[in-house]
Amino acid sequence: LNIHSSALWDSQDHRMGTLIIFHDITRIRRLEKMHKDFAANVSHELKTPLTTLKGFIETLQEMPDSSSEDRSGFLKILEKNVNRMIELINDLLSLSRLERLEGTGVRFADNQLFILIQGAVAACGPLAEKKQIQIQITCPQDLTVRVDPVLMEQAIVNLVENAVKYSLKNSQVDICARSTSKDIQIDVRDAGPGIAKEHLPKIFNRFYRVDKGRSRQEGGTGLGLAIVKHIIQYHNGQITVSSVKGKGTVFHIRLPSHA
Ligand code: ADP
Repeated sequence: LNIHSSALWDSQDHRMGTLIIFHDITRIRRLEKMHKDFAANVSHELKTPLTTLKGFIETLQEMPDSSSEDRSGFLKILEKNVNRMIELINDLLSLSRLERLEGTGVRFADNQLFILIQGAVAACGPLAEKKQIQIQITCPQDLTVRVDPVLMEQAIVNLVENAVKYSLKNSQVDICARSTSKDIQIDVRDAGPGIAKEHLPKIFNRFYRVDKGRSRQEGGTGLGLAIVKHIIQYHNGQITVSSVKGKGTVFHIRLPSHA
């Protein structure tokens, strides 16, 4: 709270009272802190792969006679870290693009939800295949949604990708969409490790990860769910999550129906 006070005088120099102005700066301070935290997080996330790159470049320089197998091993690590940075920058660009879009009232088009879900599943196909995870779609073919198709597909990709990424091999992911009298609902359900209750309110925050090591290892940027939340809000929808540790997780999207 900022407090300013000044005495009030009349024309005969008699003190009439005191003017006190209370200025609540909690929100401003909170925004300032969010920006600072964000910059610190981005710097940290970029610094980690850059430090690895630097280390391996130095090693390569110091070992001009290393075998071609060693060199190609090092190059693979360099490539992995460069890809990590590209992924992070792409996610950051998506987020800032979404923030700029907010409230601009771009017109959406009618899209077949089934086609969007199919596209999202195809994008996750290689990883699902690698882990032998079956992805099941339940969605009426004629269900149309008024959305930005690129953004909505991206939101579904991020959820399905997480479901596949965090699940054990040989499990199943279910995507179930339906139209109710009130809205359109999409559930993405996995039988993965689940998320403990105390983490649930924070997982949509930028860079929040339940298990940092695991997420990095799986190639996550920590921005996926923040992007999903923005996309759904942009469509005037809602996203919620329910999860049972050891049993699995369901992300639940509700979109307004415009029929
Ligand atoms: P990341 O790039 O780390 O996956 P996200 O923003 O997509 O970032 O997710 C944030 C965190 O939420 C993840 O690091 C993970 O700990 C947790 N999470 C997200 N989806 C799932 C899921 N389906 N099952 C278990 N944990 C999940």
